[in-house]
Amino acid sequence: MPHKSSSGSAGNFFPEKHSLPAFRAAAADCKACDLWKRATQTVFGEGRRTAAVLFVGEQPGNEEDLIGKPFIGPAGRLFDTALEEAGIDRSQTYVTNVVKHFKWEPRGKRRIHKKPNAGEISACRPWLEAEIALVKPKIIVALGATAAQALLGPKFRVTKQRGQLFESTLAPYIMATVHPSSILRAPDVETRHLEHRQFVADLKRLARILK
Ligand code: SF4
Repeated sequence: MPHKSSSGSAGNFFPEKHSLPAFRAAAADCKACDLWKRATQTVFGEGRRTAAVLFVGEQPGNEEDLIGKPFIGPAGRLFDTALEEAGIDRSQTYVTNVVKHFKWEPRGKRRIHKKPNAGEISACRPWLEAEIALVKPKIIVALGATAAQALLGPKFRVTKQRGQLFESTLAPYIMATVHPSSILRAPDVETRHLEHRQFVADLKRLARILK
């Protein structure tokens, strides 16, 4: 089937059948914004269909783009460790991103992450809303400022409001914390350990809510 041209909304690429496998297959052909052009593939969300918690990051990174799965690169490995420390089984969760294609710019031979803009986030939002509607999580956890502001508004500040519960029309509750990649970018080992402990503390709060 020929690809549809850019439309500005992922909703125009929705499948007839509303199931996660059908959405994942349809998203593979999405061209609703320009990010598909330089990415390897769409990285759709993954996890338990009936997960009580749905984590939302910003976008796939370099490894995720190459392999096609969310949260498997360095930040994903840190995320797994932190979840384990908090007593949360990743296989019982659903993980996804606000934007499903890797946005990057070249630096030498490396592909460096570039923040998606408001138009790209808006174009991709129907995929995220479809995932939330099908999984029906008890709580959505936004990882990092891009996801938090997409879900809780542009004035939301992760530094000040992390770990708090907010009621939402998308799920009973939304909570935000940092993105694990920000911990990897900490300027020194001591700061990194401190930020890791704070991240695990947020996840432990989440674990208590989930019980
Ligand atoms: S980033 Fe989202 S809206 Fe843009 S092409 Fe990829 S899947 Fe479609």
